[in-house]
Amino acid sequence: MPEFPSARADTEQVRTPPERACDLLDSASLRSDLHGRSVVDLGSGTGVLAIGAALYGADRVRGVESDPAAVELARSAADRLGATVEWIVGDVSTFRERAHTVVMNPPFGAQRRHADRPFWEAAFTAARKRIYAFASPDSRTFIAAQAVERDWHIDETRSVVWPFPRTFPHHRKPRTELAVDLWVLSVSDPP
Ligand code: SAH
Repeated sequence: MPEFPSARADTEQVRTPPERACDLLDSASLRSDLHGRSVVDLGSGTGVLAIGAALYGADRVRGVESDPAAVELARSAADRLGATVEWIVGDVSTFRERAHTVVMNPPFGAQRRHADRPFWEAAFTAARKRIYAFASPDSRTFIAAQAVERDWHIDETRSVVWPFPRTFPHHRKPRTELAVDLWVLSVSDPP
């Protein structure tokens, strides 16, 4: 999947590395949340999660992304790979449709505090069954509190290593590694 050609720091355009995209997609596939399911990728960027979901056999995949240039890259990558995805240029906070599964790698709020919050709000609203999301370990309390408040179940919080090449001008080292959380949350079954 293409890198962001000129990644914007303000919206934290950070592509999910392929190995981490596989972690998320494998986890969703093992829980039967991709094949034959509807999937929404919030902040789909250059498309790795949405395209991956389609290639894992999802029935209907939508990618919502505010940057039209990223959507164009995602669209051509999907065409090249024969993946069917509906690309929606727009803000996640105005997205009102629902899907069985939500996948996302939202901004972590490192540049703009709480930039992840509209994504979590949108994810809890859009997902009928499960959310798969990457997040900063700094957001643990917030996400856990949101899950409890909405009566969602935390299936898994896994710490994964995130290789991070120099992306933004304020990055000093050519490459670094971060610890990132992969969250799996589901709607609680009725009693
Ligand atoms: N899902 C991709 C991109 C992750 S980076 C991947 O995993 O590789 C986060 C993406 O969210 C960026 O493409 C950024 O442009 C987009 N974004 C940031 N704020 C947004 C908003 N409010 N609505 C929609 N997209 C947004």
